[in-house]
Amino acid sequence: METLTLALGDRGYPIHIGENSLSQLPAELARLRAKGAVAVCTDANVAEIHGEQVLGLVRSAGLAPVLCVMPAGEEAKQLARVEEFCGMFLEAGLDRSSVVIALGGGVPGDVAGFAAASFMRGVRFIQIPTTIVAQVDSSVGGKTGVNHALGKNAIGAFHQPSAVIIDLTLLKTLPERELHAGLAEVIKHGMIADVGLFEYLERQVAPILNKDLKALMLPVRRSCEIKAAVVAEDEHEHGMRAILNYGHTFGHGIEAVTAYRRFLHGEAVALGMHAAAVLARDLELIEQDIVDRQRACIEAYGLPIRWPAIPVDETLAAMKHDKKARDGTLKFIVADRIGHVVQRTDISENQARAALLALGRIQTPRERERGLPIMAFGGDNAESYYDDGVTASMKGDLKRAAKCFELAIKKDPSFIVAYHQLGKCYLRMGATKQAVTLLQRVVNHMPDKAPFRLDLGQAYLAGGEHERAREQFEYLLAWDASQARAYLGLAQVSFAIGRFDESVHHARMAIELGGTNFAALFILGKAGMVSEDPSLALESLDRADKLLEKSLELNPDQVEGYYLRGEVAYARKQYSSALEQYRAADAKAQQGAYYSAFGENFRSIDILAKMGLCYRQLDRIDRAKELGAEILAIDPEHKIGKALSAL
Ligand code: NAD
Repeated sequence: METLTLALGDRGYPIHIGENSLSQLPAELARLRAKGAVAVCTDANVAEIHGEQVLGLVRSAGLAPVLCVMPAGEEAKQLARVEEFCGMFLEAGLDRSSVVIALGGGVPGDVAGFAAASFMRGVRFIQIPTTIVAQVDSSVGGKTGVNHALGKNAIGAFHQPSAVIIDLTLLKTLPERELHAGLAEVIKHGMIADVGLFEYLERQVAPILNKDLKALMLPVRRSCEIKAAVVAEDEHEHGMRAILNYGHTFGHGIEAVTAYRRFLHGEAVALGMHAAAVLARDLELIEQDIVDRQRACIEAYGLPIRWPAIPVDETLAAMKHDKKARDGTLKFIVADRIGHVVQRTDISENQARAALLALGRIQTPRERERGLPIMAFGGDNAESYYDDGVTASMKGDLKRAAKCFELAIKKDPSFIVAYHQLGKCYLRMGATKQAVTLLQRVVNHMPDKAPFRLDLGQAYLAGGEHERAREQFEYLLAWDASQARAYLGLAQVSFAIGRFDESVHHARMAIELGGTNFAALFILGKAGMVSEDPSLALESLDRADKLLEKSLELNPDQVEGYYLRGEVAYARKQYSSALEQYRAADAKAQQGAYYSAFGENFRSIDILAKMGLCYRQLDRIDRAKELGAEILAIDPEHKIGKALSAL
């Protein structure tokens, strides 16, 4: 066993670390001259596994232990628990001179610590941490507190423990995922302050993951030393203590947008550290090889460095709301080498965004070569399938996306946004009936969610149910008149039923409210060609085409991009160029970049029909008839197919 001291003058305290260091508890209680009842605060899991041992040790010191148990898990970290603990203290007769023991992970540690800080304006407490997070981080430093519905750790106090007893043996029962998550904080300590620790972690992956206690001693001890040194220097986080937030600016944003449910804290910190390394590389503070080394280390300890479905803008917004981002200025801790970090407050939103985007980039070139199997990330659960589906859908692989969303729904039939995504996939694949059924279900479930109604409106529109589509868009506008996409929907409905002036008006509203997006420009151009000054309409179509061109430069596999460029050229009556674009779309579709819900090697009837219409406009009637026949072979009732083959 080793003993460190946190040097805070007369408030300093010992930190005992080792195998079986729990045997120090009676001696510590004696040193603190504890009397009478001693509260042992813990959560339900830890109470069951390790409670009895601790109670026995308190008894052996001649004291009366009172077991105070809270439910396990982050959701339980609430003010109500502090009140409950204080109630139990009062009932057990604790007073100003009593000692409280916080036994468990960071959650009971923070809650019991805050109860100790508040009870009778502060009583002494001993931390006995039982998770890696708690042993290397939360038990040392005196931060205590609970969450509020509006903010994590929003209510709390600095209250230093009187002793910390870190018994590595307690980790033997810790679940694997918790072990990994805790090790993220150890990697962090290596990155911010100790290249030797980092290198040790690189070398000792297997023994550490096997919970070899000898191998765990050094990382736990070094982490405590680093944390203790930082806290001794800057107890109340006015300056230097901020370096402990390496990876946390991004990590807190990620935790907030996932409502603290998707990732464990350490997993979010792992993602955050990877983003911070990318940022440091972009700032030219470090080379790519350091990004790669940190990434390899994070991955070796079973932690994520990617989150394919990361909602980048929402995460950035959450980062700005974090309580540590005073005045909305984002503070980033970035490494300029392994073992040393600097604080930067001059990072632009775009730089932060680029770092977050790096987390979303799912495939490495090798993975792409191998073909990504379904279930690339995160395990056999609904959320992972969902993430995978979002990525596939962003890449235009709709068949795979649909399969992933179906799996997500199978795992969790109440996963409403997965139904929404699946409906959107069907809509893009042209399976309008299925899309309508799914999206109706989603809207019935959550009638006030605008995106759901907008997509249902689009599904009705695609199925030719114009009035029902209009109802959806008007419902939304009655409720919020600044919905650009609802105006866009109305413009599309008006166009479809031949009310071109109305369509121009709605498209203008959509652009005014929502900026220049492709769909609004396109409909404005198309309707404008028919209803008013064609030169203005042509300008809209040009701008729409430019947007598409740019988007195809970024992702040349988008079948829909070529298809829409074909639509633009067709609306401009440039039939040869339109044909060229539709052909490109068809070729991409056949290469498998686009699938139908009904089978592989699908040829989109829409694309074939459009090619046929181009041939007709170009007076190549034979080709047009051939395409008509091809379409009828797939769908004998297809209107354009019939018209073309009858030419
Ligand atoms: P936790 O306390 O919820 O523990 C994680 C899970 O492991 C729980 O289900 C728990 O019952 C179980 N568990 C704990 N020890 C076990 C053991 N030995 N064997 C089997 N199961 C065990 O969570 P955590 O990861 O330890 O801590 C996270 C919390 O710590 C967060 O609320 C975070 O805000 C806080 N935190 C505080 C500080 C600080 O300075 N105060 C620093 C870092 C984190």
